[in-house]
Amino acid sequence: MKHNQHIEFVSIVIPVYNEEACLNELIQRTTAAASHMGKKYEIVLIDDGSRDSSAEIIEAAANSAHSHIVGIILNRNYGQHNAIMAGFEHVRGDLIITLDADLQNPPEEIPNLVAKAEEGYDAVGTIRRHRQDSVLRRYPSKIINKIVKRSTGVEMNDYGCMLRAYRRHVVKAMLACHERSTFIPILANGFARHTAEIDVEHHERSQGESKYGFMNLINLMFDLLTSMTTAPLRLLSLIGGGMASLGVVFGLFLLVLRLIYGAQWGVDGIFPLFSILFIFVGAQFIGLGLLGEYIGRIYSDVRARPRYYVQDILIGEASKQARDNIQAVSPVELNTMSLTK
Ligand code: UDP
Ligand code: MG
Repeated sequence: MKHNQHIEFVSIVIPVYNEEACLNELIQRTTAAASHMGKKYEIVLIDDGSRDSSAEIIEAAANSAHSHIVGIILNRNYGQHNAIMAGFEHVRGDLIITLDADLQNPPEEIPNLVAKAEEGYDAVGTIRRHRQDSVLRRYPSKIINKIVKRSTGVEMNDYGCMLRAYRRHVVKAMLACHERSTFIPILANGFARHTAEIDVEHHERSQGESKYGFMNLINLMFDLLTSMTTAPLRLLSLIGGGMASLGVVFGLFLLVLRLIYGAQWGVDGIFPLFSILFIFVGAQFIGLGLLGEYIGRIYSDVRARPRYYVQDILIGEASKQARDNIQAVSPVELNTMSLTK
């Protein structure tokens, strides 16, 4: 059941990489938007190893009087999602909002996200109303969103926009995942019970340029894919099985031809070779797929995500008394990451 949940403290997490051109406007507009909410708030700016003066700007902003800014300076560039994770480790809020530094997502939308989350949602995504990116980026991202929708089963239409809100317990669960490459919006959906999406504005990048080149985008796509499924590895076995069966069918077909039409069919010539080749290549693929199955399992163990995620425990009055002072079988905290507090 979804309950309205009051939010007292909002943390806004913003990764920054060579954004000196936008940073002052970002800080000013985000502070203005956040202070109008009538809630406690902090703005966590993570400098992701910028080579311009971003770190200095953040430092100055954090040191200025009445500042709501928490500056986190990383020693080098770790990438957007890792930077956000670094920020997550230091947030104090009940609700955590992520946002890009380049002002493509207007900070003025933050109160809308907070309002939606207060309706009782654990994760709030956003749909870009008029997306201002090139066609080359819009279409691939549309296809990816479709695939993700299918394989996660969570109804969300737009994963590309980082302007999103997560409840504290979802962030806590994400921090308990130990993989190096993550795609935060998808990871979060794995731990959210109620999710929603709202429409937001999207603007063109006003200053500086996108930090994602072609190779980075491809890398991001693989991060996204591997963060949700190991199905592509299984695909190898399927292809191999299909190929090997084709080889067998083809071989049988040749044999039948030979039985019906006599010796000129079947044994010599290159067709039987094809059939044998198909069978062997197929067998190799099956072998690769089998390796893939092991690798997939190793991968899911290595990233050590919480095995399951308990959001709440409800104990009846009588049970509560009976349980008093008796130690639980295992330290519950291990798998119960949250308990909403
Ligand atoms: N960013 C980062 N580290 C990086 C690349 C990007 O912290 O290695 C930040 C960047 O400063 C911005 C956000 O991630 O706040 C999104 O980057 P960008 O706007 O370049 O991506 P795009 O909007 O083109 O997808
Ligand atoms: Mg951008």
